[in-house]
Amino acid sequence: MTWFKREAGELDTSGEKKVRTEGLWVKCEGCRQIVWKKDLEDNFNVCPKCEKHFRVDARTRLAQLLDGEYTTDDMSLASTDPLHFTDLKPYAGRLKKAQAETELKDAIINARGKLNGRDVYVCAMEYSFIGGSMGAVVGEAITRHIERATKDRVPLIIVSASGGARMMEGVVSLMQLARISAALASMDAAGVPYISVLTDPTTGGVTASFAMLGDLNIAEPGALIGFAGPRVIEQTIRQKLPEGFQRSEFLLEHGMLDAVVHRKELKGYIARALEFMTKEAIRS
Ligand SMILES: [Zn+2]
Repeated sequence: MTWFKREAGELDTSGEKKVRTEGLWVKCEGCRQIVWKKDLEDNFNVCPKCEKHFRVDARTRLAQLLDGEYTTDDMSLASTDPLHFTDLKPYAGRLKKAQAETELKDAIINARGKLNGRDVYVCAMEYSFIGGSMGAVVGEAITRHIERATKDRVPLIIVSASGGARMMEGVVSLMQLARISAALASMDAAGVPYISVLTDPTTGGVTASFAMLGDLNIAEPGALIGFAGPRVIEQTIRQKLPEGFQRSEFLLEHGMLDAVVHRKELKGYIARALEFMTKEAIRS
């Protein structure tokens, strides 16, 4: 006789049996308070208590910036894993996982839509896809959108959220810096406006190329923006770095950015800037 009987699979804690309370509340890293997720989402994913700007994915970003509907381009571009690279895991496997989780082929969405009634083209980077890193696909997608914007004479906005060049693609990823910068130079020569929006984090090869090449470089408050990480710099120059180093406000103060704009005001700010820029373009 058995006193206790356990059905097969009774202890399976995966999936459905989990209590679904997580996800309703979020702990804010800025003020350490518990915030109701709905409040956060209603507030542009900015903490209602301390104004900390949470990271948002590319789709949310596009929804926040554009007036409703938009079309996408280049969404079928996918990496071929040119080096057949393996670190702790094969790169091919990392790609597959990221693709399944984000339902994107790579770390970018190219969109065409309207911003306060004006045509704009937007490249929105997806940080949750291998740290928003830039490999051949991100490079190709951004280059295509720049060329498209130049040809159609439509202002371009690139929203960066990236750890930099994608190391699993080695020199192929580094080549994207030159490629995108060259396309931006042609765009500049054609007199088509480009606004760069730097969000948390914008680092490495992305900062070293297109993120800092905007006609206007705008950052969100408190975003980490830099080339190398603070630890690497400290070890190289053997000096303690100042408070707030590599944050938006510090960079603005030191002339590296044109503005730091709250996410709530970002759309309106870009609209006003474009109004001004396109007027100037007509006059000249
Ligand atoms: Zn907070």
